Amino acid sequence: MEQSTWMQPTDPKRVYINLLKVCQMWQIDEGVAYAVHHLESVFMPPSRHIQLAQMFSVHDWVRPAIETLLRCGLSTISDKEANNLGVKVYSIIAKACEMLECERKLTAAYPPPMTFDPPWECKTHQMVCILIWHDFWWKKVVKQLLHPVTRGSRDLNAGLGNGTGYPWIFTGFLVINM
Ligand SMILES: [Zn+2]
Repeated sequence: MEQSTWMQPTDPKRVYINLLKVCQMWQIDEGVAYAVHHLESVFMPPSRHIQLAQMFSVHDWVRPAIETLLRCGLSTISDKEANNLGVKVYSIIAKACEMLECERKLTAAYPPPMTFDPPWECKTHQMVCILIWHDFWWKKVVKQLLHPVTRGSRDLNAGLGNGTGYPWIFTGFLVINM
């Protein structure tokens, strides 16, 4: 009889995914919790988290993974990852991306009106205050709405190294000082 030798697994994710599969099949709740806990701490692309969430009904993984995808944009997922998500899920996320983009542009296009009553001592409300508010809106708020710079975003990465990217340090400064 051939003797098989045990090999140390090279991919810890695989081990925890297999453990999750077996524990769920045999309804071993503690084992499921153990595998879920460890899968949360190993790095995986958000699309993989969504795929595993679907396979094993881990609902807590869906929201943060979708939020990460919406923040980074669908262009960051590879064809293989998109394929793993499936057409239905990919289409829902793509529509949400489009709606967010539309909402962002709509919000940017119209500065919210100053609806409160101006203080009695302000004699230049129409001529000065409202103009200052519009100026602030167009120069600072709209810039962030149309081109938000967040840590870990593609823009941030593009700005590093190649010298042609977005001046992210400057805009980061704007965010802090707004
Ligand atoms: Zn005023």
